[in-house]
Amino acid sequence: MAEPVLLRNVGVPDSHKIEVYMQRGGYQALRKALKEFQPAGLVDLVKRSGLRGRGGAGFPAGVKWSFLPKGVYPRYLVCNADEGEPGTFKDRVLIEHDPHGLIEGIIISCYACEVNTAFIYIRGEYEFGARRLEQAVQEAYEHGFLGKNILGSGFNLDLIVHRGAGAYICGEETGLLTSLEGDRGHPKLKPPFPASEGLYRKPTVINNVETLFNVPFIVERGAEWYTSMGTEKSPGIKLFCISGHVNKPGVYELPLATPLRTLIYDYAGGPLEGKPIKAIIPGGSSTPMITPEHLDVPLDYESLAAIGTMLGSGAVIVIGEGTCIVRTVERLAEFYRHESCGKCIPCREGTDWLYKILHRIEHGAGREEDLPLLLDICNNIGGKSFCPLGDAALGPVRSSIAHFRDEYLQHIREKRCPFQD
Ligand code: SF4
Repeated sequence: MAEPVLLRNVGVPDSHKIEVYMQRGGYQALRKALKEFQPAGLVDLVKRSGLRGRGGAGFPAGVKWSFLPKGVYPRYLVCNADEGEPGTFKDRVLIEHDPHGLIEGIIISCYACEVNTAFIYIRGEYEFGARRLEQAVQEAYEHGFLGKNILGSGFNLDLIVHRGAGAYICGEETGLLTSLEGDRGHPKLKPPFPASEGLYRKPTVINNVETLFNVPFIVERGAEWYTSMGTEKSPGIKLFCISGHVNKPGVYELPLATPLRTLIYDYAGGPLEGKPIKAIIPGGSSTPMITPEHLDVPLDYESLAAIGTMLGSGAVIVIGEGTCIVRTVERLAEFYRHESCGKCIPCREGTDWLYKILHRIEHGAGREEDLPLLLDICNNIGGKSFCPLGDAALGPVRSSIAHFRDEYLQHIREKRCPFQD
């Protein structure tokens, strides 16, 4: 992609300051939105753009906005900046390098949704990003982009930066809202969905950082510009964060449907030390891993679903030859066991069992019946847990057994990890 859009300010000196942001065209989309659009017109614009939620679920943002019940106020907008999926660090780059881009997206989205109070819920570990956001919010108030009667439009908006306390489950929207209300971040039953009964039991829109970041560009350039990239069902541009065994890990901006091979070889510099690729986790740690035969898969929602995995958050983790898959999956299982909030039994008990069994296989104490046992536990977690974390824990386990069963069996039969000297 020749000219970056979402990353256009990354690398520019002092890109986080409002003067630099404005010199580079910042807050012009907000002026246009307030001047040329009624709220319903903006919802329609974002619907026509086909922008889909970039947090992982991929639900169309404009459609989500249109679920807000008519005439019920106050309403809230919450920006989900609780970026905790292992391998995912795209929102962090936007927050740290271009906080005003996010703030402008939030203001326009609030105007569209008739919201007068908004929150950015940022994960506790993003201390630097939170400070950057707090400074930027202050600047935006000082310049009249936040507060009362924004740019003389009569529209009022207050924006509050709220820091989480470091729990992965608070990235799940009902867990996030519970935490924002001051309680322990446990998920809640849906329905009611947040659009009808969310924060403080009022209609609430929750969007991911990258989703909201796209909005000013859609206002400036139009829905047709957006749909001219990607595919009909997966239009637009996407940030991909690539890590693992590649030469140039980082965040890259590409049109959706760009082949995975292009991202790995043309942008991320190819596999580290030229070693063959063994597996790829395409969309964050909860998405099922795939093997190199799928290197030409287009990176869009539908194409990845067609091969049994997901685009997720766009976090691509490349695993090179010589890496122990059992150890990798054991490490991921440890993460999900630790982050399970404990509210429901299938996830609380099941994630612990998954970890313990993977641990014993990796450390030479596995049994042949452990593989069917692992899959049986997955079946008892999948679709039976209270929130998506339960299912999220299964992606690496099921897919690794499907693709690397022999490697598991080698661990069990040799009673050791073959990758350890
Ligand atoms: Fe908590 Fe896991 Fe149940 Fe979600 S699935 S409510 S994280 S125990």
